[in-house]
Amino acid sequence: MPIVTIPDAPAYRIVNARVPRDLAWWSDEFAASSREFVHCEIVVDRGRIAHLGYPAEPGDLPVVDGRDGIALPRFVDMHTHIDKGHIAGRAPNPDGTFAGAIATVRQDREANWSAADVRRRMDFALRCAFAHGTGTLRTHIDSVAPQAEISWPVFAEMREAWRDRIALQAVALFPYDMVVDDPAQFDALVTLVARHGGVLGGLTHKGEAPDAKLDVALERMFAAASAHGLDLDFHVDESASPDARSLEVIAEAVVRHRFTGRVVAGHCCSLALASDADRVRTIARVAEAGIAVVSLPMCNLYLQDREAGRTPRWRGVAPLHELDAAGVTVAVASDNTRDPFYAYGDLDMIEVFREATRILHLDHSARPWTRLLGATAAEIMRVPERGLIREGAPADLVLTGARTLPELVTRPQSDRVVLVAGRPIDTAPPDYRELG
Ligand SMILES: [Zn+2]
Repeated sequence: MPIVTIPDAPAYRIVNARVPRDLAWWSDEFAASSREFVHCEIVVDRGRIAHLGYPAEPGDLPVVDGRDGIALPRFVDMHTHIDKGHIAGRAPNPDGTFAGAIATVRQDREANWSAADVRRRMDFALRCAFAHGTGTLRTHIDSVAPQAEISWPVFAEMREAWRDRIALQAVALFPYDMVVDDPAQFDALVTLVARHGGVLGGLTHKGEAPDAKLDVALERMFAAASAHGLDLDFHVDESASPDARSLEVIAEAVVRHRFTGRVVAGHCCSLALASDADRVRTIARVAEAGIAVVSLPMCNLYLQDREAGRTPRWRGVAPLHELDAAGVTVAVASDNTRDPFYAYGDLDMIEVFREATRILHLDHSARPWTRLLGATAAEIMRVPERGLIREGAPADLVLTGARTLPELVTRPQSDRVVLVAGRPIDTAPPDYRELG
């Protein structure tokens, strides 16, 4: 049973809602609030939020009693792989390791990733995300030839088909070696990404020490991004190896190039295992470079420190508290879903927030971590109007029965109500059977 019933009327009032202070644009009287939640009402009128704050004139609008439940903006999931999702059934990771994931995905991509296959799985993934309440999503796209020419046009099609439901962004994903070994392929990819309004990415994480080849690759990537006005979103140091230290090299490249685009570093797992001196120095450079770090706690917990017959000893996640304390913008996101890199996951940001809270110890903290559900990622993605509840904006909301963060994190919130432009959507995710 959904927690509330939304009246079939063009305008209505949601009373007794609890809105996180850090997930809304407040008028001054609330902005100064020292409380974590603001007890307020939300008036929805013809698909938009007409009022957010203290109860307005009662009038004769139908009333929805939010019963003190937390009301959230629709979520922003800034690091996913919807081109890769849902292949685990036909291409399971043989041993749950990172190496197993890379080999299995390559095989499946070369054998199966036609436009029709990518389209079907992307659509399935987006329906999962939508049902759970996500309104903005960035995906990485495996972009090694010939896949780039297949997947990017499908992505563009999806972005158009989904534009009223989920705002989509995409990032080209490829090993940095390609930039040096096959410059013609890299140039063609940059053109393709620019044509589709995408973001340039790349993997620098494979566990080996940064070398001259990485320097050359980064020079070319930053030059290409500058020339085409592209942002950058890397997969960085997704490894426990003490040699995986490319984050600092990327930070130096940002500063050297005086790069003015956004730069995101995903994963940064090995930074958690660096010596205190190395970690402090690297974090200072990342802060200076203005790089945002996105942690993927569920996928890291699954892949990092895995060895058959041995219990993992660490959680695999980047040192997010230390990064945050140094002024680095930090976020969390889903990453992979039901593929060889992560066997589970459903693009549900409440699950991501729940698991991030537990894995990264975001609880017992005064930091505004509720922003991880939307606002922080929206800023990084240059869509700052998203991921916040705001007067005048579309009434895109997720209403939950949880009154506190512990209540939100304890249960999966399967009874949540998702409003898109003020109307409730079907929150049942699609059936796996569709995919065979
Ligand atoms: Zn990823």
